[in-house]
Amino acid sequence: MIKIPFCDLAKLNRPMMAEIEQALLRVARSGRYIGGTEVSAFEEKLCNLTGVCHAVGVGNGLDALKLVLRGLVALGRLSRGDGVIVAANTYIASMLAIEDAGLVPVPVDPDRRTMLLDGAGVSGCHVKNAKAVMPVHLYGRAAWDAGLVRAIEERGLLVIEDNAQALGARTDIAGLNGLHRMTGALGDAGALSFYPTKNVGALGDAGAVLTDDAELASAVRSLSNYGSDRRYHNVHSGGCNSRLDPMQAAVLGVKLGYVDVISRRRRDVAASYDRMIENDLIEKPDMPEYGESHVWHQYVIKVPGRDARDAFRKHMHELGIETDVHYAVPPHRQPCYEKRQWGDFPVTCEIADRVVSLPVACVSSDEAEYVAEAVNCWRM
Ligand SMILES: *Cc1c(COP(=O)(O)O)cnc(C)c1O
Repeated sequence: MIKIPFCDLAKLNRPMMAEIEQALLRVARSGRYIGGTEVSAFEEKLCNLTGVCHAVGVGNGLDALKLVLRGLVALGRLSRGDGVIVAANTYIASMLAIEDAGLVPVPVDPDRRTMLLDGAGVSGCHVKNAKAVMPVHLYGRAAWDAGLVRAIEERGLLVIEDNAQALGARTDIAGLNGLHRMTGALGDAGALSFYPTKNVGALGDAGAVLTDDAELASAVRSLSNYGSDRRYHNVHSGGCNSRLDPMQAAVLGVKLGYVDVISRRRRDVAASYDRMIENDLIEKPDMPEYGESHVWHQYVIKVPGRDARDAFRKHMHELGIETDVHYAVPPHRQPCYEKRQWGDFPVTCEIADRVVSLPVACVSSDEAEYVAEAVNCWRM
Protein backbone atom coordinates (compact mmCIF):
# COMPACT_ATOMS: atom_id res chain seq x y z
CA MET A 1 0.00 0.00 0.00
CA ILE A 2 1.15 3.56 -0.76
CA LYS A 3 2.35 5.57 2.25
CA ILE A 4 2.76 9.31 2.04
CA PRO A 5 4.06 10.78 5.30
CA PHE A 6 3.27 14.41 6.01
CA CYS A 7 6.97 15.26 5.99
CA ASP A 8 9.93 12.86 5.87
CA LEU A 9 12.94 14.88 7.00
CA ALA A 10 15.54 12.20 6.28
CA LYS A 11 14.24 11.91 2.71
CA LEU A 12 14.09 15.69 2.37
CA ASN A 13 17.75 16.09 3.38
CA ARG A 14 19.02 13.09 1.42
CA PRO A 15 19.99 14.94 -1.80
CA MET A 16 22.16 17.30 0.29
CA MET A 17 23.46 14.69 2.76
CA ALA A 18 27.02 14.33 1.45
CA GLU A 19 27.56 18.08 1.73
CA ILE A 20 25.84 18.22 5.14
CA GLU A 21 28.05 15.44 6.50
CA GLN A 22 31.16 17.22 5.26
CA ALA A 23 30.05 20.43 6.93
CA LEU A 24 29.42 18.64 10.23
CA LEU A 25 32.82 16.92 10.13
CA ARG A 26 34.51 20.23 9.40
CA VAL A 27 33.02 21.76 12.56
CA ALA A 28 33.69 18.67 14.68
CA ARG A 29 37.35 18.73 13.70
CA SER A 30 37.76 22.50 13.94
CA GLY A 31 37.76 22.78 17.72
CA ARG A 32 35.60 25.89 17.49
CA TYR A 33 32.16 25.09 18.90
CA ILE A 34 30.68 28.50 19.76
CA GLY A 35 30.61 31.39 17.27
CA GLY A 36 33.54 31.64 14.88
CA THR A 37 33.75 31.63 11.12
CA GLU A 38 31.01 29.03 10.52
CA VAL A 39 28.48 31.35 12.14
CA SER A 40 29.80 34.55 10.54
CA ALA A 41 30.00 32.89 7.10
CA PHE A 42 26.38 31.76 7.38
CA GLU A 43 25.29 35.23 8.51
CA GLU A 44 26.99 36.67 5.46
CA LYS A 45 25.18 34.20 3.21
CA LEU A 46 21.88 35.31 4.72
CA CYS A 47 22.76 38.94 3.99
CA ASN A 48 23.69 38.07 0.40
CA LEU A 49 20.44 36.15 -0.12
CA THR A 50 18.06 38.70 1.37
CA GLY A 51 19.96 41.93 0.72
CA VAL A 52 19.98 43.13 4.33
CA CYS A 53 23.08 44.63 5.93
CA HIS A 54 23.02 42.60 9.14
CA ALA A 55 22.09 39.04 10.02
CA VAL A 56 22.46 37.71 13.56
CA GLY A 57 22.28 33.96 14.14
CA VAL A 58 20.36 32.99 17.29
CA GLY A 59 19.17 29.83 18.98
CA ASN A 60 15.70 29.48 17.42
CA GLY A 61 12.86 31.38 15.77
CA LEU A 62 11.02 32.28 18.94
CA ASP A 63 14.21 33.79 20.37
CA ALA A 64 14.73 35.71 17.13
CA LEU A 65 11.31 37.35 17.61
CA LYS A 66 11.88 37.93 21.33
CA LEU A 67 15.34 39.43 20.84
CA VAL A 68 14.17 41.83 18.11
CA LEU A 69 11.36 43.11 20.30
CA ARG A 70 13.54 43.30 23.43
CA GLY A 71 16.14 45.11 21.33
CA LEU A 72 13.62 47.66 20.10
CA VAL A 73 12.53 48.29 23.69
CA ALA A 74 16.16 48.53 24.91
CA LEU A 75 16.85 51.15 22.21
CA GLY A 76 13.74 53.12 23.16
CA ARG A 77 12.07 52.61 19.78
CA LEU A 78 9.20 50.84 21.53
CA SER A 79 8.04 51.28 25.13
CA ARG A 80 6.60 48.71 27.46
CA GLY A 81 2.83 48.67 27.01
CA ASP A 82 2.91 49.58 23.31
CA GLY A 83 0.66 47.47 21.10
CA VAL A 84 1.83 45.24 18.28
CA ILE A 85 -0.77 44.47 15.60
CA VAL A 86 -0.64 40.83 14.51
CA ALA A 87 -2.95 38.45 12.65
CA ALA A 88 -5.09 36.53 15.17
CA ASN A 89 -4.59 33.27 13.25
CA THR A 90 -0.82 33.19 13.73
CA TYR A 91 1.20 30.52 15.48
CA ILE A 92 1.40 31.28 19.20
CA ALA A 93 5.13 32.14 19.04
CA SER A 94 4.22 35.61 17.73
CA MET A 95 2.11 36.37 20.84
CA LEU A 96 4.64 34.86 23.26
CA ALA A 97 7.43 37.06 21.88
CA ILE A 98 5.34 40.24 22.05
CA GLU A 99 4.38 39.66 25.67
CA ASP A 100 7.95 38.64 26.56
CA ALA A 101 9.17 42.13 25.64
CA GLY A 102 6.49 43.78 27.80
CA LEU A 103 4.49 44.73 24.71
CA VAL A 104 0.81 44.04 24.11
CA PRO A 105 -0.47 41.80 21.31
CA VAL A 106 -3.22 43.47 19.27
CA PRO A 107 -4.69 40.58 17.28
CA VAL A 108 -6.82 41.37 14.23
CA ASP A 109 -8.69 39.03 11.91
CA PRO A 110 -6.86 38.20 8.67
CA ASP A 111 -8.27 38.45 5.17
CA ARG A 112 -10.51 35.42 4.65
CA ARG A 113 -9.11 34.54 1.22
CA THR A 114 -5.36 34.83 1.83
CA MET A 115 -5.58 34.08 5.57
CA LEU A 116 -3.03 36.90 6.06
CA LEU A 117 -3.02 40.32 7.69
CA ASP A 118 -3.94 43.04 5.18
CA GLY A 119 -4.35 46.81 5.01
CA ALA A 120 -7.99 46.63 6.11
CA GLY A 121 -6.93 44.76 9.23
CA VAL A 122 -4.41 47.44 10.14
CA SER A 123 -6.54 50.48 9.33
CA GLY A 124 -9.62 48.91 10.93
CA CYS A 125 -7.75 48.39 14.19
CA HIS A 126 -8.62 51.21 16.56
CA VAL A 127 -6.26 50.42 19.42
CA LYS A 128 -4.56 53.77 20.08
CA ASN A 129 -1.22 52.63 21.48
CA ALA A 130 -0.41 50.27 18.60
CA LYS A 131 3.12 51.29 17.58
CA ALA A 132 4.24 48.27 15.60
CA VAL A 133 2.93 45.57 13.33
CA MET A 134 4.10 42.00 12.95
CA PRO A 135 3.26 40.61 9.51
CA VAL A 136 3.41 36.83 9.74
CA HIS A 137 4.10 35.25 6.35
CA LEU A 138 1.90 32.34 7.31
CA TYR A 139 2.10 29.09 5.34
CA GLY A 140 4.96 30.58 3.31
CA ARG A 141 3.03 33.41 1.64
CA ALA A 142 4.24 36.98 1.95
CA ALA A 143 1.83 39.11 3.97
CA TRP A 144 2.82 42.17 1.98
CA ASP A 145 0.76 44.14 -0.52
CA ALA A 146 0.15 47.74 -1.51
CA GLY A 147 -2.82 48.09 0.87
CA LEU A 148 -0.85 46.83 3.86
CA VAL A 149 2.14 49.06 3.08
CA ARG A 150 -0.16 52.09 2.78
CA ALA A 151 -1.87 51.33 6.11
CA ILE A 152 1.53 50.82 7.81
CA GLU A 153 2.87 54.10 6.46
CA GLU A 154 -0.29 56.03 7.40
CA ARG A 155 0.04 54.92 11.01
CA GLY A 156 3.85 55.13 11.07
CA LEU A 157 4.20 51.65 12.51
CA LEU A 158 7.44 49.81 13.10
CA VAL A 159 7.46 46.53 11.16
CA ILE A 160 8.78 43.29 12.61
CA GLU A 161 8.29 40.35 10.26
CA ASP A 162 7.70 36.88 11.58
CA ASN A 163 9.36 35.16 8.64
CA ALA A 164 9.62 31.74 10.27
CA GLN A 165 7.67 30.12 7.43
CA ALA A 166 8.60 32.01 4.26
CA LEU A 167 12.36 32.28 3.79
CA GLY A 168 12.96 32.55 0.04
CA ALA A 169 9.70 34.32 -0.85
CA ARG A 170 10.02 37.45 -3.00
CA THR A 171 7.37 40.16 -3.19
CA ASP A 172 6.27 42.32 -6.12
CA ILE A 173 5.91 45.30 -3.75
CA ALA A 174 9.19 46.61 -2.33
CA GLY A 175 9.87 46.74 1.38
CA LEU A 176 9.60 49.91 3.48
CA ASN A 177 12.98 51.31 2.48
CA GLY A 178 12.21 50.62 -1.18
CA LEU A 179 15.20 48.33 -1.62
CA HIS A 180 14.32 44.81 -0.62
CA ARG A 181 11.84 42.31 -1.98
CA MET A 182 12.53 39.23 0.11
CA THR A 183 10.44 38.40 3.13
CA GLY A 184 12.34 39.04 6.34
CA ALA A 185 13.95 42.11 4.75
CA LEU A 186 10.81 44.15 4.09
CA GLY A 187 10.38 46.01 7.37
CA ASP A 188 12.56 47.19 10.26
CA ALA A 189 13.58 43.67 11.24
CA GLY A 190 12.73 40.10 10.40
CA ALA A 191 12.88 36.90 12.44
CA LEU A 192 13.74 33.56 10.85
CA SER A 193 13.33 30.04 12.16
CA PHE A 194 15.32 27.06 10.91
CA TYR A 195 13.30 24.49 12.85
CA PRO A 196 13.85 21.19 10.99
CA THR A 197 10.46 21.20 9.22
CA LYS A 198 10.75 24.79 7.98
CA ASN A 199 11.57 25.22 4.27
CA VAL A 200 15.24 25.72 5.15
CA GLY A 201 15.59 23.52 8.21
CA ALA A 202 18.56 22.78 10.46
CA LEU A 203 19.29 19.45 12.14
CA GLY A 204 17.95 20.91 15.37
CA ASP A 205 16.96 24.36 16.60
CA ALA A 206 18.28 27.52 14.96
CA GLY A 207 17.09 31.02 14.08
CA ALA A 208 18.26 34.41 12.86
CA VAL A 209 17.43 38.10 12.89
CA LEU A 210 17.68 40.25 9.75
CA THR A 211 17.89 44.03 9.74
CA ASP A 212 19.47 47.01 8.01
CA ASP A 213 19.69 48.80 11.37
CA ALA A 214 23.22 48.50 12.78
CA GLU A 215 22.16 49.60 16.27
CA LEU A 216 19.39 47.03 16.42
CA ALA A 217 21.65 44.28 15.07
CA SER A 218 24.22 44.97 17.73
CA ALA A 219 21.56 45.12 20.47
CA VAL A 220 20.21 41.74 19.32
CA ARG A 221 23.70 40.24 19.20
CA SER A 222 24.45 41.52 22.65
CA LEU A 223 21.09 40.40 24.12
CA SER A 224 21.62 36.93 22.67
CA ASN A 225 24.97 36.68 24.47
CA TYR A 226 24.24 37.60 28.10
CA GLY A 227 23.66 41.24 27.24
CA SER A 228 27.39 41.74 26.76
CA ASP A 229 28.96 43.94 24.09
CA ARG A 230 32.42 42.52 24.75
CA ARG A 231 33.79 39.84 27.00
CA TYR A 232 32.68 40.28 30.63
CA HIS A 233 31.13 43.69 29.91
CA ASN A 234 27.34 43.55 30.24
CA VAL A 235 25.27 46.41 28.91
CA HIS A 236 21.74 44.89 28.82
CA SER A 237 20.01 43.33 31.80
CA GLY A 238 17.57 41.50 29.52
CA GLY A 239 20.26 39.27 28.07
CA CYS A 240 20.00 35.54 27.57
CA ASN A 241 22.04 32.76 25.99
CA SER A 242 20.68 32.20 22.50
CA ARG A 243 23.55 31.84 20.08
CA LEU A 244 23.49 30.05 16.76
CA ASP A 245 25.33 26.74 17.05
CA PRO A 246 28.24 26.49 14.55
CA MET A 247 27.14 22.91 13.67
CA GLN A 248 23.74 24.23 12.63
CA ALA A 249 25.32 27.23 10.89
CA ALA A 250 27.47 24.87 8.81
CA VAL A 251 24.48 22.70 7.86
CA LEU A 252 22.38 25.76 7.08
CA GLY A 253 25.16 27.18 4.92
CA VAL A 254 24.72 24.11 2.71
CA LYS A 255 20.93 24.21 2.72
CA LEU A 256 20.71 27.94 2.04
CA GLY A 257 22.36 27.25 -1.30
CA TYR A 258 19.29 25.20 -2.21
CA VAL A 259 16.63 27.68 -1.12
CA ASP A 260 15.41 28.40 -4.66
CA VAL A 261 15.37 24.69 -5.51
CA ILE A 262 13.30 24.05 -2.37
CA SER A 263 10.85 26.86 -3.16
CA ARG A 264 10.49 25.72 -6.79
CA ARG A 265 9.77 22.11 -5.80
CA ARG A 266 7.07 23.18 -3.36
CA ARG A 267 5.59 25.57 -5.93
CA ASP A 268 5.41 22.71 -8.43
CA VAL A 269 3.55 20.52 -5.96
CA ALA A 270 1.17 23.37 -5.11
CA ALA A 271 0.55 24.01 -8.81
CA SER A 272 -0.22 20.29 -9.34
CA TYR A 273 -2.68 20.27 -6.46
CA ASP A 274 -4.29 23.44 -7.75
CA ARG A 275 -4.68 21.94 -11.20
CA MET A 276 -5.89 18.48 -10.10
CA ILE A 277 -7.97 18.96 -6.96
CA GLU A 278 -11.64 19.24 -7.86
CA ASN A 279 -14.18 18.54 -5.14
CA ASP A 280 -17.17 20.74 -4.21
CA LEU A 281 -16.52 20.09 -0.51
CA ILE A 282 -12.96 21.39 -0.71
CA GLU A 283 -11.79 24.99 -0.94
CA LYS A 284 -8.30 25.22 -2.39
CA PRO A 285 -5.84 27.88 -1.17
CA ASP A 286 -5.72 31.14 -3.07
CA MET A 287 -2.91 31.21 -5.65
CA PRO A 288 -1.10 34.55 -5.55
CA GLU A 289 -0.83 36.39 -8.87
CA TYR A 290 2.85 36.91 -8.20
CA GLY A 291 3.96 33.30 -7.80
CA GLU A 292 7.34 34.09 -6.23
CA SER A 293 5.58 35.56 -3.19
CA HIS A 294 4.60 32.07 -1.98
CA VAL A 295 7.04 29.33 -0.98
CA TRP A 296 4.33 26.91 0.20
CA HIS A 297 5.56 26.05 3.65
CA GLN A 298 2.09 24.52 3.90
CA TYR A 299 -0.57 23.74 1.30
CA VAL A 300 -3.73 24.47 3.26
CA ILE A 301 -7.19 23.52 2.01
CA LYS A 302 -10.51 24.14 3.74
CA VAL A 303 -13.18 21.55 4.46
CA PRO A 304 -16.72 22.44 5.64
CA GLY A 305 -16.04 22.20 9.41
CA ARG A 306 -14.52 20.35 12.36
CA ASP A 307 -16.49 17.11 12.04
CA ALA A 308 -15.93 17.09 8.30
CA ARG A 309 -12.24 17.62 8.96
CA ASP A 310 -12.02 14.55 11.21
CA ALA A 311 -13.81 12.50 8.55
CA PHE A 312 -11.63 13.89 5.77
CA ARG A 313 -8.39 13.15 7.62
CA LYS A 314 -9.60 9.62 8.38
CA HIS A 315 -10.39 9.10 4.70
CA MET A 316 -6.91 10.30 3.72
CA HIS A 317 -5.25 8.21 6.44
CA GLU A 318 -7.03 5.11 5.16
CA LEU A 319 -5.50 5.80 1.76
CA GLY A 320 -2.04 6.05 3.35
CA ILE A 321 -1.82 9.85 3.30
CA GLU A 322 -0.93 11.78 6.45
CA THR A 323 -2.35 15.27 6.86
CA ASP A 324 -1.94 17.90 9.58
CA VAL A 325 -3.78 20.97 10.90
CA HIS A 326 -2.16 24.42 11.20
CA TYR A 327 -3.70 25.38 13.61
CA ALA A 328 -6.77 23.89 15.25
CA VAL A 329 -6.80 26.28 18.24
CA PRO A 330 -5.92 29.95 17.64
CA PRO A 331 -3.84 31.78 20.28
CA HIS A 332 -6.80 33.73 21.71
CA ARG A 333 -8.54 30.42 22.47
CA GLN A 334 -5.52 28.87 24.22
CA PRO A 335 -5.81 28.29 27.98
CA CYS A 336 -2.78 30.54 28.68
CA TYR A 337 -4.59 33.54 27.15
CA GLU A 338 -8.00 32.86 28.69
CA LYS A 339 -7.90 36.06 30.75
CA ARG A 340 -6.85 38.41 27.93
CA GLN A 341 -9.62 40.54 26.51
CA TRP A 342 -8.45 40.61 22.96
CA GLY A 343 -11.93 40.24 21.46
CA ASP A 344 -13.63 37.83 19.08
CA PHE A 345 -12.11 36.84 15.81
CA PRO A 346 -14.76 35.17 13.63
CA VAL A 347 -12.55 34.76 10.55
CA THR A 348 -9.76 33.27 12.65
CA CYS A 349 -12.18 30.86 14.33
CA GLU A 350 -13.62 29.81 10.98
CA ILE A 351 -10.11 29.17 9.65
CA ALA A 352 -9.20 27.13 12.75
CA ASP A 353 -12.33 25.00 12.26
CA ARG A 354 -11.80 24.32 8.58
CA VAL A 355 -8.12 24.10 7.62
CA VAL A 356 -6.24 20.93 6.72
CA SER A 357 -2.64 20.82 5.45
CA LEU A 358 -1.74 18.34 2.71
CA PRO A 359 1.79 16.93 2.41
CA VAL A 360 3.87 19.27 0.25
CA ALA A 361 7.48 19.08 1.48
CA CYS A 362 8.65 15.92 -0.24
CA VAL A 363 6.02 14.50 -2.58
CA SER A 364 6.89 13.46 -6.11
CA SER A 365 4.61 14.35 -9.01
CA ASP A 366 3.14 10.82 -8.97
CA GLU A 367 2.49 11.15 -5.25
CA ALA A 368 0.89 14.56 -5.76
CA GLU A 369 -1.45 12.99 -8.30
CA TYR A 370 -2.33 10.21 -5.83
CA VAL A 371 -3.03 12.78 -3.08
CA ALA A 372 -5.22 14.86 -5.40
CA GLU A 373 -7.21 11.78 -6.44
CA ALA A 374 -7.71 10.88 -2.78
CA VAL A 375 -9.00 14.40 -2.09
CA ASN A 376 -11.28 14.24 -5.12
CA CYS A 377 -12.94 10.97 -4.12
CA TRP A 378 -13.85 12.16 -0.61
CA ARG A 379 -17.60 12.38 0.08
CA MET A 380 -19.32 13.36 3.33
C1 LIG B 1 8.14 27.97 13.67
C2 LIG B 1 7.56 29.31 13.96
C3 LIG B 1 8.08 30.16 14.95
C4 LIG B 1 9.11 29.74 15.95
O1 LIG B 1 10.22 29.14 15.48
P1 LIG B 1 11.08 28.12 16.40
O2 LIG B 1 12.36 28.01 15.68
O3 LIG B 1 10.30 26.86 16.49
O4 LIG B 1 11.24 28.77 17.74
C5 LIG B 1 7.56 31.43 15.06
N1 LIG B 1 6.55 31.86 14.30
C6 LIG B 1 6.00 31.06 13.35
C7 LIG B 1 4.90 31.61 12.50
C8 LIG B 1 6.47 29.77 13.17
O5 LIG B 1 5.90 28.99 12.24
